Amino acid sequence: MTLQNNTLPSILLLAMLTACSPSDETATSNADKTTPVNNDSVAAEQTDHFPYVFDQIGENSWVMHGPRELPNPENKGFMNNPGIIKTSVGLVIIDPGSTVHVGENVLKKIKSISDLPIVAIFNTHVHGDHWLANQAIKAAYPNVKIYGHQNMLDEIAEGAGEEWLTLMDNMTDGASKGTTVVAPDNAVNSDDVIKIGETQFKTHHYGVAHTNTDIMIEVVEESIVFLGDNVLAKRVPRMTDGNFQGSIASINSILETNAKHYVPGHGPTSDSSMVKDYLNYLALIYKAAQQAFEDDLDSSDVLAITKQTTTAYKDWYGYDDLLGSQGAQAYNEVEEAEF
Ligand SMILES: [Zn+2]
Repeated sequence: MTLQNNTLPSILLLAMLTACSPSDETATSNADKTTPVNNDSVAAEQTDHFPYVFDQIGENSWVMHGPRELPNPENKGFMNNPGIIKTSVGLVIIDPGSTVHVGENVLKKIKSISDLPIVAIFNTHVHGDHWLANQAIKAAYPNVKIYGHQNMLDEIAEGAGEEWLTLMDNMTDGASKGTTVVAPDNAVNSDDVIKIGETQFKTHHYGVAHTNTDIMIEVVEESIVFLGDNVLAKRVPRMTDGNFQGSIASINSILETNAKHYVPGHGPTSDSSMVKDYLNYLALIYKAAQQAFEDDLDSSDVLAITKQTTTAYKDWYGYDDLLGSQGAQAYNEVEEAEF
């Protein structure tokens, strides 16, 4: 299954509809600005404000855990988990972020950890919040190699990058302006092992899961897996470009790596218990859809079941907005599998 071009505008619409509503907070902070002094310097400070830091995960690996909410004017589009791995020949970045400005800020933070050059980037999938910052890294290190799945390269060649630029621009009220499409230039597939210095990067792709473009990156010597959006922590997925069955199968496969550390696309890094927790959520949705189908109920009836069975996840970001549509989607998958 290939991502149809016409699915991107619907993602845009959906994403905008389900974006967290910052209007209340904005109203409060505007009300606080009673004295219009030093507006310029306040604005300048806000522009440069990037309070995120890299957390060390392994001996040679770090992750910056971005905010879990969708891109908005306050986070300026930053919402993912950029990773860095130190190798004997330089640094490798996984998913540098969502805009050129985010990439520049991430680069500044990287320099506080190591002066080594950046020699490679891996992009986990085609969603722009993970890779539009490639531009900033490429500008600073023109020889950097950028790895992504062949399907990602194909979708970008068909215009997916431009669609994501528009989406990011709309969602951040223009905070992403200046960002251009810098796509991966090295295609990888499942079970490729790319040796950079003494470090092995093994890429895992199991067909359509979160999207048709996913790679999960196992850094063998660090016993760490970057999962992309195939696994999220404390956040429910937007499944519009993927499916439940493929996601469940992919997650079961990646657990076989028995890695020590798993880095989700969004949310805190942890061990396999975090991965299993997310897997359980997907399985509960799919199971409810199967039950509804067997009981001759409608796709809209899945929600009544999942509201009962997924209460442990009710505090996860996006739960209230997405539970209904996820049940309906899983029901369609069950129906398709039957015929
Ligand atoms: Zn994604």
